[in-house]
Amino acid sequence: MASDEPVVIVGAGLMGAAAARAIARRGRPVVVLEQFAAGHRNGSSHGSARIVRRAYGDAMYTSFTGRAFELWSAVPSPDPLLRMLGALDFGPDRDVASIAGHLSAAGVAHELMPASEAARRWPGMEFAGDVVLHAQAGTLDADAAVTALLADAVAHGAEARFESGARAARRRGVAAAADGDPAAGVPLPPSGPGGSAVAQRDSRARSRDVPPGGRSRRRP
Ligand SMILES: Cc1cc2nc3c(=O)[nH]c(=O)nc-3n(C[C@H](O)[C@H](O)[C@H](O)COP(=O)(O)OP(=O)(O)OC[C@H]3O[C@@H](n4cnc5c(N)ncnc54)[C@H](O)[C@@H]3O)c2cc1C
Repeated sequence: MASDEPVVIVGAGLMGAAAARAIARRGRPVVVLEQFAAGHRNGSSHGSARIVRRAYGDAMYTSFTGRAFELWSAVPSPDPLLRMLGALDFGPDRDVASIAGHLSAAGVAHELMPASEAARRWPGMEFAGDVVLHAQAGTLDADAAVTALLADAVAHGAEARFESGARAARRRGVAAAADGDPAAGVPLPPSGPGGSAVAQRDSRARSRDVPPGGRSRRRP
């Protein structure tokens, strides 16, 4: 695969925007095709808050999320992307001992306490069993993150086309924008709910370009 052959990313949600930024920063041409307008709410990556945390029942996720926090903190954005608020894990669906063990192994500060102690500290809540508190948890601003990731991708040479639905995704070749303006290259399909429709759907959208800053404008 020639390194100047553009990578075509289908979908400008969190995953597509992050992939576009990572690839553009490596100096590779990138075209992002998004079927809806910038800031749309038809996928999964809209709104001001998605929960982020280190507490999982799997050590791999506890490790990955630590690296993710480092990377999120390095995304240039006028708005703060992460709000660290802390989190409590408890209840019959949570293996608190296992979660605490993974946090310990990863060196993540946390407190393990009985339900009675948690009830004393958070009297408005009802606890069952042991409770684990850790500070490395909070929310990610999904809207601001998509905007920041795309803006940085565009600043590094990526092209983002909104209202530009892809209707064919092949291993190599063309991810066709429905207005007959094909973006040739290696398509990466979206990972969100609309992703499985890529090879089937014939969208009637039109192409737009996005300058640095993330606002779209219609192509001449
Ligand atoms: C209500 C809700 C709450 C959630 N809470 C959390 C949480 O607290 N913590 C957490 O970690 N995760 C949470 N998630 C999950 C998280 O938001 C998603 O995993 C993430 O946003 C998925 O991003 P994505 O880019 O894969 O998909 P999406 O954001 O859906 O992006 C896919 C994009 O592809 C576009 N697309 C699809 N087909 C085509 C096509 N043919 N041509 C062009 N474009 C196309 C779509 O329009 C869309 O913009 C939540 C999700 C929802 C819905």
